[in-house]
Amino acid sequence: MASNPLESADGHYDVIVVGAGAGGIYAVQRFARQGLSVIGIESGSGVGGVWFHNRYPGARVDVDSVEYSYQFSYELASKWNWTERNAAQAELIAYLEFATDLFGVRDKFRFSTRVTSARWNPVDCQWQVETDQGLHVSSRFLVMASGNLSSSRLPQFPGLETFKGECFLTSHWPREDIDLTGRRVGVIGTGSSGVQVATALSAMVQHLCVFQRTANYSVPAQSFPLDPELQRQRAERLSKERAILLTRPAGTAVVRAKHPMSHYTEAERITQMERQWDRGGQGMSAVFSDQGVDLASNTAISDFVRRKIHQTVTNRSVADSLASQPYPIGTRRLILDTGYYQIFNQDNVTLVDVREDPLIEITTRGIRTGGQQFDLDVIVFALGFRAFSGALVDAGIRNEDGLGFDESWSRGPRTLLGLMCSDFPNLFFPTGAGSPSVLANMILLNELHADWIGDTISYLDQHGYRSIVPTRAAEDQWCEHVAEVAAPLLRLKVDNYMVHVNTDGSRVFMPYAAGLDRYLPQAEEVTASGYKGFQLS
Ligand code: NAP
Repeated sequence: MASNPLESADGHYDVIVVGAGAGGIYAVQRFARQGLSVIGIESGSGVGGVWFHNRYPGARVDVDSVEYSYQFSYELASKWNWTERNAAQAELIAYLEFATDLFGVRDKFRFSTRVTSARWNPVDCQWQVETDQGLHVSSRFLVMASGNLSSSRLPQFPGLETFKGECFLTSHWPREDIDLTGRRVGVIGTGSSGVQVATALSAMVQHLCVFQRTANYSVPAQSFPLDPELQRQRAERLSKERAILLTRPAGTAVVRAKHPMSHYTEAERITQMERQWDRGGQGMSAVFSDQGVDLASNTAISDFVRRKIHQTVTNRSVADSLASQPYPIGTRRLILDTGYYQIFNQDNVTLVDVREDPLIEITTRGIRTGGQQFDLDVIVFALGFRAFSGALVDAGIRNEDGLGFDESWSRGPRTLLGLMCSDFPNLFFPTGAGSPSVLANMILLNELHADWIGDTISYLDQHGYRSIVPTRAAEDQWCEHVAEVAAPLLRLKVDNYMVHVNTDGSRVFMPYAAGLDRYLPQAEEVTASGYKGFQLS
């Protein structure tokens, strides 16, 4: 078995892992620990994945740092201290760097190398992988730890190429220091990335224009410094803490709301909402048990947040625009901020509502809307991602018939357990569509999925199988189950990166919405049954 990429004389491995984010780092150490030869391939020049690339000012995690951490390693937990509840990007990268070295897996990664094609060869049951650096490697198993939100949606505005200033993508922010002090900056996009970058830039730029197409709900993260002693104590009971997270819908401290709105009096409802607001984090997602399915219940919370916006933003028409969300709260991922609405009280910040005044083109000098020209030195694009399938398509993955994910998933992702799909043997995608995925604590789910994959490989090896692939029938059944769970949800009707919309108007909610706690027993049942629903050959 090879222990280092350079030691594999024939370029063949048991497993190729694509991506050196939190998922790839864990997967590589997990597979190496069980004695498999493994190489990691990463397009960035270092570890960190989304946190490597999304290094824009203001980037920080919207899950509690102690939960958004590896939960399997006492050594790591006892040696690492998070400084605050929602760690900023630099600290997240430092953590992932530290973990990589502690696990001793850095030399297993080939950095600055992008997978350009991966082809399944059914004769020798191998994935043949090629990269932009001329590296050709093969493996029995291919694990795409390449992320669901990693393939950027690129700007396609008319006139973009004529702009004389500088352009940046939040999702591929340059590594070198970018000094935007005293510049005139426009931010297009007001999802989590846009809100975070706008909040941070507002404190340094001469003028900031925020171009908002759809108003989103943003709530205070309520981050605070963390006590090292409490973290040390948590590390001592890590396995218990991990077990608790596994009983939670998102693999975090957030529990399901106990009661529907009708259970409470009017005054109690307000108390309940204020309490969750003060708690911060994703607390506003768990106020009433029926807020995800009942519009009246949801509206009470949406209106509560809109009132908070109006109480914060002094200019009435700006507040109206920021509070013009055309969808129920929580049906897109709730944004956590560190004072976003407050920036609109500053003289150097302008909100441009491009629904009211459409963005016509980018000009040499800036951005022209229907009614105005905004002169800018810099444009920051925070336009989101080609979620779930983007990275799989970009890696040029093809099965034995030459089928890729653009065709295979043209009507939305199709998977079994969000881990594998029927057309692609021995291909795994941790945290994939059809699993709790982006609705869950991604580091924890990455651990669980890599463990599942590692155990599956052991099972195949012990029983003399060379390949595993879901049956079409089992995949159909799982997709139906995923759809059935999503059917009553308000969020199915709202456009966002979690919903695939077909040309005939049918909608596919891509993550598994029943919760991590309800997902895990089903994954375990499959393993316990000797891989029911999978064809082993
Ligand atoms: P996003 O939520 O998909 O937001 C993209 C934004 O770009 C939206 O406001 C969208 O407007 C706008 N947009 C796209 N095309 C546009 C156009 N042609 N003209 C004007 N506006 C346009 O992407 P994101 O902000 O990168 O966040 C994605 C996810 O990444 C988050 O939900 C979260 O899961 C994760 N994330 C997490 C963190 C964190 O942990 N704190 C930070 C950043 C991201 P419309 O809404 O009108 O389409």
